[in-house]
Amino acid sequence: MRKAILATLAALAALSSSIARAENFPSHPITIVVPFSAGGPSDAMARILAERMQRTLGQTVSIENVTGAAGSIGVGRVVRAAPDGYTVSFGHLGTHVANGAIYNLGYDLVTDLEPVVLLPSNPMVIVSKNAVPAKTLKELLAWLKAQPTPATAGTAGAGSGSHIAGLYFENASGIKLQYVPYRGTAPALNDLVAGQIDLIVDQLSNSIAQVRAGTIRAYAVTDARRVESAAEIPTTDEAGLPGFHMTLWSGLWVPRGTPKDIIAKLNAAAVEAMNDPAVRQKFDGLGLQVPPPDQLTPAALGSWQKAEIAKWWPMIKAANVKVQ
Ligand code: ASP
Repeated sequence: MRKAILATLAALAALSSSIARAENFPSHPITIVVPFSAGGPSDAMARILAERMQRTLGQTVSIENVTGAAGSIGVGRVVRAAPDGYTVSFGHLGTHVANGAIYNLGYDLVTDLEPVVLLPSNPMVIVSKNAVPAKTLKELLAWLKAQPTPATAGTAGAGSGSHIAGLYFENASGIKLQYVPYRGTAPALNDLVAGQIDLIVDQLSNSIAQVRAGTIRAYAVTDARRVESAAEIPTTDEAGLPGFHMTLWSGLWVPRGTPKDIIAKLNAAAVEAMNDPAVRQKFDGLGLQVPPPDQLTPAALGSWQKAEIAKWWPMIKAANVKVQ
């Protein structure tokens, strides 16, 4: 009897301290772990969001770049963090879907994390170094087919968005690529501009500034519609690879067991940020599309992630991706 009373009291104490924690949240700075290099597309989106989220939350929201193994090291860091809302995982189709089909992660992307919010998405764009002689997608495909050894394609690692997009490009066109993994597509893009690699199937938000500056060449965006802020780039449908559509979406997650009230506060801050006209303007300039309002609940991200796992895992497993 005494034991039961003590157990109940202990449970009540734990409950009230978790309620107090949720009420005071956030009482100190929050870290968003970006699992790719600084200056890349994930990093850029996370920094725009963090800057605006800290206004709503009344606390500093800083970014930590924990890179390597296509983002799986950075995600693992958050899985093992305290479930208190102070360590948040930024990720995308690659880190929170594809990596589960490729790596022996030691954690489960669905059950070891709680979804917070779906973030903007953008199509990929096929870009090459300027020294590639092709001017159109059809000419690029002919050039790729004529190479004695496969052309080199930069990626953010096996399973990253740029790698899945490359695999999809190979499947859709019948060409062969040789992948060069980086810790993010920021360093891959630097090497593309310098002519060290031949191409990237990149997130539009990463390449767009270099395309505009004329330092690399864009062939097509992987969407059914042209992107407003890059309307000069044709779609894959128009340029000769009909049906090659891919959108790279991002999201935020926290460790399993994070109190629901804390998740709700993080969600509200991210939604407020995405609704801010100044933030929208920055996203529009990068070709990033904010999801519709009904897609912005934690539950919506949870179902979307599961649906994407069902869609992509068979193709990724069939590609038999090797992890170096
Ligand atoms: N999101 C990019 C990719 O998966 C990597 C990055 O953000 O640097 O290819």
